[in-house]
Amino acid sequence: MDDEKSSALYRRFPALKGIEHHGMAIGNGWHDLLEQLLLDIERLNPTGFKILQIKEKFGGLRFYFQVDPEFQDTMNEMVAQAERVAEKTCEVCGELGELRVDRPWLKTLCDTHSVIKRSA
Ligand SMILES: [Zn+2]
Repeated sequence: MDDEKSSALYRRFPALKGIEHHGMAIGNGWHDLLEQLLLDIERLNPTGFKILQIKEKFGGLRFYFQVDPEFQDTMNEMVAQAERVAEKTCEVCGELGELRVDRPWLKTLCDTHSVIKRSA
């Protein structure tokens, strides 16, 4: 995510303060679904909540956190929901995407951004 977008999220959500900027290694296209997840968590207001890492792995969103046991199931479901949305969202632009397996690195991308650039 570029600096402008990630800085805005850091200002808005104190829960992000615990992780370094490089601890949020996802593309701009996932900004909105991450923001939605953070808003949902804020509404739940779970105790013992701490974000450990947010990243892309094998083309999917990974949101690592800890929370007090009584909130674990609810939080698992909220995070799983965001991860399911990410599975269908281009990580570059946020349009409808799908997991692309025709390349060395798995990525969830729309048709436009799935075009593989080959150097001449
Ligand atoms: Zn795209």
